Amino acid sequence: MTLPDRRADLRAMQSYHSPQIDVPIRLNTNESPYPPPEAFIDAWLSAVREIPLNRYPDRSARGLRVALAEQMGVAVDQVFCANGSNEVLQTLLLVYGGPGRKALVFEPTYALHSHIARITGTEVITGERASDFSVSTTEAGLLIAAERPEVVFLCSPNNPTGTFESRATIEALLSAVVDHGSGLLVVDEAYGEFSDWSALELVDDDLPLVVTRTYSKVWSLAALRLGFAVGPAPVVANLDEFVLPYHLSAPTQEAGMIALTFADEMRVRVDTIIGDRQRLAAALGRLPGLSVYPSGANFLLVAAPGLSLWAKLVDNGILVRDFSSRARLEDCVRITIGTPEENKSLLAAIAAILEETSP
Ligand SMILES: *Cc1c(COP(=O)(O)O)cnc(C)c1O
Repeated sequence: MTLPDRRADLRAMQSYHSPQIDVPIRLNTNESPYPPPEAFIDAWLSAVREIPLNRYPDRSARGLRVALAEQMGVAVDQVFCANGSNEVLQTLLLVYGGPGRKALVFEPTYALHSHIARITGTEVITGERASDFSVSTTEAGLLIAAERPEVVFLCSPNNPTGTFESRATIEALLSAVVDHGSGLLVVDEAYGEFSDWSALELVDDDLPLVVTRTYSKVWSLAALRLGFAVGPAPVVANLDEFVLPYHLSAPTQEAGMIALTFADEMRVRVDTIIGDRQRLAAALGRLPGLSVYPSGANFLLVAAPGLSLWAKLVDNGILVRDFSSRARLEDCVRITIGTPEENKSLLAAIAAILEETSP
């Protein structure tokens, strides 16, 4: 049997994956350490029971969009939903990227922006973040003017560095995109709820700005796959036109709507995780030989030169995310904030590893 070769431009590409190892403490994929509230699960299961399973779901996910629009104070036609924000990003790139078009990313950042861009045949242009991992508006402006990318990705808070950008930075990038004439700024706010400020308040039908969000992190619903974008109505109309029909299952739509009725509970969890992040950052920062980067998300980027921290933590039954093979992150691991018990175990394990390795 001879199978067709994969597409020429995909032949050299490596797949995206994050190692899953079966260990007791998993702090590697930035999920919520808490399951959703019991009452949410009950309400959702009752709703699922009522779904006419022989019928296709509501193609426009109208109920979910209305609920999201209300929650965020935007118009219903400014909301687009999909199976995780990754499908939102893919749909954006299918519509606005593709052969002969460019997407700009600022590295180091979320690998899927460039990965999905390449899969859709979009050329990837790379800007470099400054030494503190922030985006320089001067350099970004020059790059946008020179390359004129159709899509500019800005991840804020940035995965994996935790860096969050100010309103001034987003406005500067937005005006660079407006000046070049035919681009779209996509701000990936998968961790937006952990941060003090959101680009959502800038979204306007007359501005080329799209903000993407997800239920995978704060809403404790990574298993369900639900994300959304808020952007100009004409952009949303384009995404609707080319996304697969009936892509969002009825149980997923129900979950998205019902979750929003638990917004207060979720806010409490977010605040708890922020408090735990601050405590963990302070405690790690007091250990010799580690540097902890400032984070506006539910994880910490930690540099531990010469320690082989990732492997040693696995030996201790703790899985974090290894970035040692990523440019500019050679000594780094990314640690998701877990439950207080998990954070305590992590801290104790790191302290013991440092103890062992110090002369
Ligand atoms: C986790 C994450 C997402 C979420 O993707 P989903 O498909 O919604 O699970 C998107 N962007 C960034 C930067 C992330 O870290």
